[in-house]
Amino acid sequence: MKYKKVDHQITDKLRAIVGAENIVTDPEALENYSHDETPLYSSMPEIAVKCTSTEQVSGVMRIAHENCIPVTPRGGGTCLSAGAVPVYGGIVLSLEKMTKIIEIDRDNMMVVVETGIVTEQLGKELAKQGLFFPPDPVSLDSCTIGGNIAECAGGPRAMKYGVTRNYVTGIVAVLADGSVAKMGGKLLKNVTGYDLINLIVGSEGTLAIVTEATIRILPLPKIVVDLLIPFVCVEDATNFTVELLQTDIMPAAIEFMEGDVVRIVSKYLKKEIPYMNANAHTIVEVDGNEKPKIQAIYSRIGDLALRHGALDVLVGEGTRDRDKIWEPRKKIGDTLKDLTKNVTREDLVVPKKQIPQLIRGLKNCAKKYEAKVFAFGHLGDGNIHADVSVEKTKQLTASEIDKMRREMYETAISLGGTITAEHGVGLSKIPYIGIAIEEKQIDLMRKIKTIFDPKNILNPGKIFPNS
Ligand SMILES: Cc1cc2nc3c(=O)[nH]c(=O)nc-3n(C[C@H](O)[C@H](O)[C@H](O)COP(=O)(O)OP(=O)(O)OC[C@H]3O[C@@H](n4cnc5c(N)ncnc54)[C@H](O)[C@@H]3O)c2cc1C
Repeated sequence: MKYKKVDHQITDKLRAIVGAENIVTDPEALENYSHDETPLYSSMPEIAVKCTSTEQVSGVMRIAHENCIPVTPRGGGTCLSAGAVPVYGGIVLSLEKMTKIIEIDRDNMMVVVETGIVTEQLGKELAKQGLFFPPDPVSLDSCTIGGNIAECAGGPRAMKYGVTRNYVTGIVAVLADGSVAKMGGKLLKNVTGYDLINLIVGSEGTLAIVTEATIRILPLPKIVVDLLIPFVCVEDATNFTVELLQTDIMPAAIEFMEGDVVRIVSKYLKKEIPYMNANAHTIVEVDGNEKPKIQAIYSRIGDLALRHGALDVLVGEGTRDRDKIWEPRKKIGDTLKDLTKNVTREDLVVPKKQIPQLIRGLKNCAKKYEAKVFAFGHLGDGNIHADVSVEKTKQLTASEIDKMRREMYETAISLGGTITAEHGVGLSKIPYIGIAIEEKQIDLMRKIKTIFDPKNILNPGKIFPNS
């Protein structure tokens, strides 16, 4: 597909739609829109436009469609698969100014939002009314609901509450030709034809731009308690998790940090973390509404952990203690960015019993390239993040990184897993999608993409090989 460049005439038309204050052409400012949080990927857009309404998004898409200009939708730019990188230049369409909460409907336990709202901001506004949107990507202070929808984001609480997909019941979607499709509503059940909402959720901005969403909400649990449980090894932590999830207890989260991660975060934070020599720190979160019940649950969890060789069970009940427990987990991204030379950030998932084998396998792959794996993530749902780094003085070639990643993906797949649980294929995993799913599936997906976007202007160069 040959794309047209954004010339003066097109810039004028875009300016007429969004206003001069919402156009970015200065190269220094445009640089912010050339990358997301994926290491090693960037590409300059020709222009960025900040839309403030569905009508504006539709107007921009009409111009892009008429002129065959690629458009990359963008929320908070926290993507970890280079999905927000405008690989063919063109227009970055930012939703950052579409942050309104349109309605909080308590009767139906639904909220209607513009999708540029930052996830944490929505959470804070709902909490004021005792309400709760559970999906909680660790990036929630800067990612947006639109990005969460596009990636079907999860987070620590996905284990108990599910992922973004489980909450979206309606969307307003701007299609590639600029037409606007309203789908679903405040409906908990809806089988009227194919489920297009769930096709668009997780489609990484390649099928439509979601400008508005109707989202199911829950009552905010009154009590939340976190347990920090260090184990001697990953096997013990995994066996504890596997057994815990066979009981009638459903924790809100079971998170994990390998010993090397804990030690490097401690160095970054310049503070001691309890049991620094342990090789697997877990965080188990329990929530509910009655204190005695919660206490009974966490003491059962503690007993089980100790039976599995836990070194201790530290209980965080108040906000201060809970924040202290979570701080190292939340600072992993910043730490590894600052203190290591990151070559890839992986997001693998296996049946949870296989986690120790997965981590051992990843380390073996990395060792061949003198690289180091920092493993952490969502132990409760088998989703392990593996940030792979090399010494600051060392350089890996693109071909070495490619070989190492391929071996890592093959390891995950051989254990019954796949190559991405929540970060998406984006740009960075395109060469590997064929290892994970059959050609027939890829072909069906390509056909769907062609129906939605025959000119291939909506986030082109993502998900599919040679697109
Ligand atoms: C430190 C850190 C921790 C993270 N933790 C988690 C985690 O726990 N769980 C998890 O799932 N992810 C996590 N992520 C990944 C990332 O934050 C999520 O994928 C998030 O949902 C991206 O949202 P965003 O607004 O930043 O989207 P962006 O990065 O701006 O975009 C992501 C993709 O969505 C598309 N897009 C954005 N907005 C729209 C829209 N309105 N309509 C259509 N397409 C759109 C873009 O084109 C792009 O393909 C983490 C990232 C970082 C940096």
